[in-house]
Amino acid sequence: MDAATKTPLTSTDLRAQFRAVADRTRRVRTRCDRMMVIALSCMVVAIVFMFFPASRYHYVGNAAFGLFFVLFMSSAAISGFSMPKLVCPQCANNLLGDVDEFCPECGSQQIKRGGFFAAPRCLSCKRSLRRNKGRPQYKIRACTRCGAWLDDEGL
Ligand SMILES: [Zn+2]
Ligand SMILES: [Zn+2]
Repeated sequence: MDAATKTPLTSTDLRAQFRAVADRTRRVRTRCDRMMVIALSCMVVAIVFMFFPASRYHYVGNAAFGLFFVLFMSSAAISGFSMPKLVCPQCANNLLGDVDEFCPECGSQQIKRGGFFAAPRCLSCKRSLRRNKGRPQYKIRACTRCGAWLDDEGL
């Protein structure tokens, strides 16, 4: 990674502001992931109960874990709604939007535009800046519009 390409945010206020949003985003993501894992485990247990019709607790187990599944899935969805908006504090660009001038991974300006089938590539860090169903499959460390360096760890 070329350190010279990193342009920090102009004010410490903006940096602190973005760090707060980044931390919150990470927390909400972890919570969502955990809920999903619990929900899917409940679904597996509910399915296991379906295979033991002889058991007296067959329906109870099936219904209870089916219900847990729904509950944990809903709370994951509710957590998802509380996800903060990821915008650049400097230029108000939507950070989850399409790749613009700068590489979101390394902040370099050497972006090779994508074609109809090809994702944009960064010629500096050699990463493919793919998106899947509108979601970036790359880490966001820099603003792709103004090039401001936002987060070392990436979001
Ligand atoms: Zn790059
Ligand atoms: Zn920006």
